[in-house]
Amino acid sequence: MATFTLIVLLTCIWSVVATTSTWNRSNACQSLSSKFPASIYTVGSSEYKSETQAYWSLAAWLEPDCVFAPASSSDLAGGVDVLIKSNTTFAIRSGGHAPTTGIASTGHGVLISMAQFKTLTLHDAPNKYGASYLRCGAANPWGVVYEFLGQHGLSVVAGRIWPVGTGALLGGALSFFSQQRGWGSNNIVNYEVVNADAKVVQVNAKSNPDLFWALKGGGNNFGIVTHYDMKTFKQDKIFGFNMAWPPEQMQKFSDAMTNWMLPGGGREDAKGALMPSTQYTPATDRLEPSLTALYDAPINNPAAFENFSAIAGTDLGNGVQNVSQLVNQTIGYSARVLRWKWYVTSIKFDKETMPIVIDTMVDVAKELIPKFDGFVGVAEEPITIKHLEAAKANGGDPMNLDPKDGGFLMALYYTAYSDPKLDETAENYLKTLISTVEKKTKAKNLFYDFYFLNDLGIAQDAFTSYKGGALNKLKAISRKYDPRGVFQHLVPGYKLGYLVDGS
Ligand SMILES: Cc1cc2nc3c(=O)[nH]c(=O)nc-3n(C[C@H](O)[C@H](O)[C@H](O)COP(=O)(O)OP(=O)(O)OC[C@H]3O[C@@H](n4cnc5c(N)ncnc54)[C@H](O)[C@@H]3O)c2cc1C
Repeated sequence: MATFTLIVLLTCIWSVVATTSTWNRSNACQSLSSKFPASIYTVGSSEYKSETQAYWSLAAWLEPDCVFAPASSSDLAGGVDVLIKSNTTFAIRSGGHAPTTGIASTGHGVLISMAQFKTLTLHDAPNKYGASYLRCGAANPWGVVYEFLGQHGLSVVAGRIWPVGTGALLGGALSFFSQQRGWGSNNIVNYEVVNADAKVVQVNAKSNPDLFWALKGGGNNFGIVTHYDMKTFKQDKIFGFNMAWPPEQMQKFSDAMTNWMLPGGGREDAKGALMPSTQYTPATDRLEPSLTALYDAPINNPAAFENFSAIAGTDLGNGVQNVSQLVNQTIGYSARVLRWKWYVTSIKFDKETMPIVIDTMVDVAKELIPKFDGFVGVAEEPITIKHLEAAKANGGDPMNLDPKDGGFLMALYYTAYSDPKLDETAENYLKTLISTVEKKTKAKNLFYDFYFLNDLGIAQDAFTSYKGGALNKLKAISRKYDPRGVFQHLVPGYKLGYLVDGS
């Protein structure tokens, strides 16, 4: 009898909770719709469909109760006020290129799309930030940004791929200019943010300096950024290198990478930056390396890339060109046709780094997914001493990585496939691969405890790997600006030491 009463009681409580949250959810969309009718897209509309499918990985396509695409910062603040008061989950999406399900999308509550924030305006020094800057609305993909700046002979420290979005800056942003200027976030002079009080605030070194620091690597934990004010610099033509190689050149590519990473190698020339990748197709046992790289001077075949240019392969667009021409060559990443997953680990620069990265991937794939209906691969992203020195010189960030650690490679392992039934297989492969690689790197003292927020797998955490007590500092800043924990509990994504999965 007592058990029965308890079950009835629990059922009643559950019904009240469920009814309340359903009421809150539909009520939030109705309230938003009555305040901002032109900015709310409901299930069944073509806008709802295009917004909820504006993600690079099909695994990130979820179905929120409605989409809110505000036209201005004040409308966004008004909408956030409604969402906070109704205790409604809201995901935030800019470029939609984070592949992990449920960190920029949600299967319940409201999706906030930043699609209307398309501002691109130039502001010359002298000004209150002491540097010329670009005001960049959150909606702009990097391809559009570089195209715009190229018309003015300027550039910024931003992402390297045409369709990737400004969300990259909240994880730091690895750039073709990082060797010279640090992370993208080290080069921001001001953020316009809708904060946890649903107010529009300017965040910079003078106004809210602790929050300014937190945003340079703190992800979506501190507010919704509407505009990034990014330092601009004069930009001449560059040498763009874009090559793909057949499997028989894999060893030469691997050796060229090793030479570039080690002391005295190409990494010593800060004008050069590499974006390598090696794709592996288990079903055919084919390893295909490729490299997109930028040398920041208008000279053909710089010495910094000589180990790569010596390898015979397919020229995909080498030559002296504008930054935007090189970035245009990456527009293929706009295609929304596959399910992508990825996981990352960091490995100190060493002659054994590349063999571990590649051989372990092939071994684990052969063992676990020999007939995988898709492909896998690794982006071997070098983070150099010069990059980390420049990050510190330009004001630092929560990652707080020490140049004395000597530089390291972020091995971003990915899977790409069509069939949703392979989600679990892909996840299992990636997790096994990461733990196998880390077992080897730890045994050889090559493991570097850093997980790049922009490249995280769903079961990984970045903030615990930030150095110098940064996580505690981030938590204190969160408590100060967001005492109710709005961005900790209502917003899906990588939270301060844990995950809120919106799916
Ligand atoms: C093909 C490819 C190439 C890449 N190249 C690079 C690279 O060169 N350098 C690099 O650093 N990274 C790179 N990345 C990683 C990329 O930077 C991250 O996935 C980043 O999160 C993408 O930003 P987005 O705006 O496209 O993402 P979204 O998927 O829209 O958002 C990602 C995260 O940021 C949050 N967010 C987005 N906008 C806002 C906002 N306005 N305010 C608050 N939170 C927000 C979201 O809630 C989510 O948690 C690449 C990714 C891909 C797929």
